[in-house]
Amino acid sequence: MKLHFPNSYAEIDLQTITKNIRELKKRTAAKKILSVVKCNGYGHGAVRVAREAEPEVDWFGVAFVDEAIELRMGGIKKPILVFEVPSARTAAAYQTHGLTATISDLAHFSILMDGTKYHLNFDTGMNRLGFSPSKAPEVRKMAIVNQRLICSGIYSHYSMADDPGSKEVEKQLKAFRDVLKHFDEIPLVHICNTGGAVHYDLEEFDMVRTGLTQLGYAAGRVQPDWLEPVLTWKSKVVQVKKVSKGESVSYDATWTAPIDCFIGTIPVGYGDGILRSLSNKLKVSVNGAMYPVVGNVTMDYIMINLGNKKIPVETEVTLLGGDAWSASKWAEEAGSNVHEILTGLSDRMARSYTNY
Ligand SMILES: *Cc1c(COP(=O)(O)O)cnc(C)c1O
Repeated sequence: MKLHFPNSYAEIDLQTITKNIRELKKRTAAKKILSVVKCNGYGHGAVRVAREAEPEVDWFGVAFVDEAIELRMGGIKKPILVFEVPSARTAAAYQTHGLTATISDLAHFSILMDGTKYHLNFDTGMNRLGFSPSKAPEVRKMAIVNQRLICSGIYSHYSMADDPGSKEVEKQLKAFRDVLKHFDEIPLVHICNTGGAVHYDLEEFDMVRTGLTQLGYAAGRVQPDWLEPVLTWKSKVVQVKKVSKGESVSYDATWTAPIDCFIGTIPVGYGDGILRSLSNKLKVSVNGAMYPVVGNVTMDYIMINLGNKKIPVETEVTLLGGDAWSASKWAEEAGSNVHEILTGLSDRMARSYTNY
């Protein structure tokens, strides 16, 4: 939807993306960075994020072929790895747009067109996509037989790397090392996502794949102080009303005023990405002070308790980032993760870019 009169906007500081990637590079032993910009760059705008990241990174990664085509149309030149399974529908697009496919099943060897580049994906414990490690000798044979395709990498994916000290990471690492014994000559080996790169970085692999770090977040509960969030989401108070002691606010009367107070109404709700589970939990920032959301989050509005402060309408409100709660605090309070909070930011908000 084209927005003529947006009710909220995300300010995205592009230089902070460069800064975050440089901070990661100082800390990772991997020589290469793959910037993951799937799902519209986690809501930040895939092409804008990728253009900013391109000078700093070696590869891009996306979930689906359409997302890769969007990057190419936006002028992105660096290699793009597509994580999804290739199919008869998408096979030609890899060649047309110069994309690197992921082979995660023997059938994929015959689907891709001559000359297509690919990475092998082995499933070492996530149980989502990828070959079982026991298939390694068979996969090796197929890779050798299929000289019409070009194998340029091999990877796996962690299921529990978001926080430090996971036993599962060790198990997956061991399984991946065993797989790699069959593929000595493959030039590019990678397993770390953001969690892996921040908490389990290892010198033996060539590249890390990270979506969140460039946007200023780690994946789990531990948020390192060397990352700076890129996005700040703001809106305005559109109405202020007096509510008397004993009156309730919003659907289902989940909050009742304990004393007379002013309630401010803000034109963003779960339709914009404020999870309903944050009803009566979220706090937002107005003029540097935090105010609680009271009553249920509705599709289009939230209400905040201003106490005895009757602020003027049009007063700016910071909902996420800046001096309000970070996406990781949102995630913690909502029982979610940073990925879900960021990708939940809808197209109802305008995205405005600064510092490019
Ligand atoms: C999404 C994804 C990533 C990036 O995850 P982050 O936690 O954002 O770093 C890396 N690898 C694969 C295969 C993915 O699907």
